[in-house]
Amino acid sequence: MSNPYPNKASTVPLSRRNFFAAGSAGLATAALWASAAAQEPGTAHVRPATSSDPGQANASLENENPNSNTPPSTDRGDLGPTWYSFNLAHKRVENGGWTRQVTERELPLSTEIAGVNMRLNAGAFRELHWHTAAEWAYVLYGSARISVLNPDGTVFIDDVPRGGLWYFPAGYPHSIQGLGPDGCEFLLVFDKGDFSEENTFLLSEWIAHTPPEVLKKNLRLDSTALARMPSRELFIFPAAAPGSLADDRIAAGGDSAHSTTSFSFQMLEMEPTVSGAGGTVRIGDSRPFPAPRTLAGGLVTVRPGGLRELHWHPNGAEWQFYLAGTGRMSVFATPGRARTMDFNANDVGFVPAMAGHFIENTGDTDLIFLEIMRAHRFVDFSLNNWLRHLPTEMVAAHLNLEPSMIRSIPSEKLLVIS
Ligand code: MN
Ligand code: MN
Repeated sequence: MSNPYPNKASTVPLSRRNFFAAGSAGLATAALWASAAAQEPGTAHVRPATSSDPGQANASLENENPNSNTPPSTDRGDLGPTWYSFNLAHKRVENGGWTRQVTERELPLSTEIAGVNMRLNAGAFRELHWHTAAEWAYVLYGSARISVLNPDGTVFIDDVPRGGLWYFPAGYPHSIQGLGPDGCEFLLVFDKGDFSEENTFLLSEWIAHTPPEVLKKNLRLDSTALARMPSRELFIFPAAAPGSLADDRIAAGGDSAHSTTSFSFQMLEMEPTVSGAGGTVRIGDSRPFPAPRTLAGGLVTVRPGGLRELHWHPNGAEWQFYLAGTGRMSVFATPGRARTMDFNANDVGFVPAMAGHFIENTGDTDLIFLEIMRAHRFVDFSLNNWLRHLPTEMVAAHLNLEPSMIRSIPSEKLLVIS
């Protein structure tokens, strides 16, 4: 990726795309605009471009984060970071796979949502466990066999391929196993910011921390059997690849023991909920996938030059995971604060509940990301939709626009604009 600000002495905040389009004439125009705007009544928050930075630089990070290092002149105040990357998270490497997490410890704004990125080799298990948070998952690579028990004793067992989701309610015991030929990698999203992979209820640890005489009585096992069981956590461990899904379902009790609730959903296979020149959105919330009650996901593709429009969500915070491309997001918060940061594949973004935001594709390939809401429904308000469903005079009085100008604003909620 080439440096979007090759001449640091004349840094003017422009998106990477606009920079290449604008050239040096555009730079001069933008500089004039910035200085003129600074003197306009009502635009005192727009500062002139004075971000000369002649000293040392981490060139790789600067090139990857142009909007953080040279914020748009519209940024104001400090929200704290809305970005973190799994590439910077501690990676717990085990025999059979690995895991890393981005929680509120890494991304302090994210008090409602945390995420885990995990790899399981073919056959390897994430040990049977449960936890205090609900778990929403998206398969990034390969496929996984999952199991989850209902309180009524029925069990759900399924194979989830790339682009598929699963959801495990808080406290429901479950397993994840990598399938052939090369296991799987997936994203887990939890409905608590302080969730930690290190704080889950593991089968092995409960066994290890229960008096043997109680285990004998409860499990009806003798000392020989007890001596075989693990004395420390398994967490992630290698195992033989399982047989067919049908065989596993029969082994778990057959049709009469199979859950009537589905805990998986093929989100990537669904027709886009919204499709336009700017991109597509697949909304995998509780409408097509009823099981999740606390988390709702959408898969967004923004074409080059496109924009996930200015919007906000009335019903919860938003946690994002970027799968491909490059983009930037500005988050607008009170009082009058705004922060713009850049996003690449494997990065996490966060938007506090109610905060306004947009996501712009700043590259020349599709920008693909997951929007995960701390809610069971994906609900948003579009700025365009709001402005066009008010009396024109009301909008004119606020924004100093002519009625004809207001009528050029798209009237419908498009989600992604070209
Ligand atoms: Mn889990
Ligand atoms: Mn959003």
